[in-house]
Amino acid sequence: MLSSCGRFVLQPPTYDLLTGRRPGLIMASGHTVLMRLVASAYSIAQKAGTIVRRVIAEGDLGIVEKTCATDLQTKADRLAQMSICSSLARKFPKLTIIGEEDLPFEEVDQELIEDGQWEEILQQPCPTQYSAIKEEDLVVWVDPLDGTKEYTEGLLDNVTVLIGIAYEGKAIAGVINQPYYNYQAGPDATLGRTIWGVLGLGAFGFQLKEAPAGKHIITTTRSHSNKLVTDCVTAMNPDDVLRVGGAGNKIIQLIEGKASAYVFASPGCKKWDTCAPEVILHAVGGKLTDIHGNALQYNKEVKHMNSAGVLATLRDYDYYASRVPESVKNALVP
Ligand code: AMP
Ligand code: MG
Ligand code: MG
Repeated sequence: MLSSCGRFVLQPPTYDLLTGRRPGLIMASGHTVLMRLVASAYSIAQKAGTIVRRVIAEGDLGIVEKTCATDLQTKADRLAQMSICSSLARKFPKLTIIGEEDLPFEEVDQELIEDGQWEEILQQPCPTQYSAIKEEDLVVWVDPLDGTKEYTEGLLDNVTVLIGIAYEGKAIAGVINQPYYNYQAGPDATLGRTIWGVLGLGAFGFQLKEAPAGKHIITTTRSHSNKLVTDCVTAMNPDDVLRVGGAGNKIIQLIEGKASAYVFASPGCKKWDTCAPEVILHAVGGKLTDIHGNALQYNKEVKHMNSAGVLATLRDYDYYASRVPESVKNALVP
């Protein structure tokens, strides 16, 4: 299987003349656990994307309120999580997998299992610092459907499937499937895409673009706003504010030049929302932190909530960080 995705590598590659490879990257004889996991996560996220589309096509969303009317779960969240977690666990039984949805333990239908692995990823070298990682050392954060509120409202391109991979508390690899990418682009456009990345290797599946220079275009929540969120956005002196659903979707806006900063000065967003998107952003030289500037931690014991919000940019991080009001910082305890 070969994708027709665009491709971006973080640094201009300098190649070793003998091996033709970049220093610091190794092509293991036999693939490393990390690269096998990323290759599987790619295929598994694609399968989850087809489930997300199928549930809409069948017409019964099976909506359940979790904590409140803006915190929803649908049949697609449930089926996609069962598919992702069971498919990963079958192939990598020693992984720690943390999924967003609290589901009863049940046997999963074979039809939901994805066994494939994306060959193009297996052909990539593993960054040397990750080549000896063991399966049991990895933690996988799964958001089977990010942007559920928007999904139920028909804002379909806000939706993503997120599979983030962490090692020693740090997000190091991730996959984002966007099931409805291109859904308004006409019958000839390919529906859906998958973006993936590994720190030290790069991020792939999209064309990197910077937001217009000198403009402060903020992307923030449309369904989970409050006074802290709006106070913080206003303090950034924005030229434009985009209110869209999904953490994955907002990071895609940053890497495709539609927004210059993702600002969410509130609790509400969780580790499964940020893990995969953070990797993609970091792999192309961006930065994602909490609103105080602290790196997020992804070890299995960490609390799920990003209590001190999210601040992310592709460029000019310091401008936005310097504008966060003290009153906002004081209200958000890490
Ligand atoms: P949003 O930008 O509102 O789409 O939020 C990004 C992610 O964080 C989504 O997965 C939301 O469900 C989640 N999130 C943010 N705020 C809240 C909240 N107050 N309650 C539940 N989930 C939230
Ligand atoms: Mg989410
Ligand atoms: Mg979700």
